[in-house]
Amino acid sequence: MKSPGPVLNERLREQRCLTQRRLAFLNLGCNPILLYYSGQGPIKMNTSEEHKLQNKGVRPTAMRILVLQYLTQLGHTSSLFDLENHFDHADKSTLYRTLKTFEEKGIVHKIDDGSGIIKYGLCSESCQCILADQHFHFHCEKCGETYCMSGMQIPNLELPSKFILKQSNLVLKGICANCN
Ligand SMILES: [Zn+2]
Ligand SMILES: [Zn+2]
Ligand SMILES: [Zn+2]
Repeated sequence: MKSPGPVLNERLREQRCLTQRRLAFLNLGCNPILLYYSGQGPIKMNTSEEHKLQNKGVRPTAMRILVLQYLTQLGHTSSLFDLENHFDHADKSTLYRTLKTFEEKGIVHKIDDGSGIIKYGLCSESCQCILADQHFHFHCEKCGETYCMSGMQIPNLELPSKFILKQSNLVLKGICANCN
């Protein structure tokens, strides 16, 4: 087989450079989603994250998929600061907007755990972010992480007459399983 001419060689080199730069940008190595993002290799976007975004009416961009993937794998809630640290090459305002969109579309919910830093927890597939979907959260005093206790719904409370419950912020505090 004849080797490609100098022009093609140059183009291939340029393309590789661009891919490496894009991979470095998101600092996540050779992820199939990134390959798609960089326009290279197998197009493999049928992830559960993509479906979840679409189900919630959010267009699955590469950044949104990556953030959702990160939040899903994390196992506890995350702050904007955590996200910025993890995606340290990504644009901060893009990360902020991603979280805002997720919140508006019921993909994450906001938690005030009393630490002074707002945390975001992943909503369940069926969550509509209404009172019935609200659950307890657990804040670990040792590692500072906050967990969704998704199985622990807010019990039916009998409020005095004419008091109407709209929202609850129930945070349990103690030592988490990781620190125990
Ligand atoms: Zn929700
Ligand atoms: Zn802990
Ligand atoms: Zn939660």
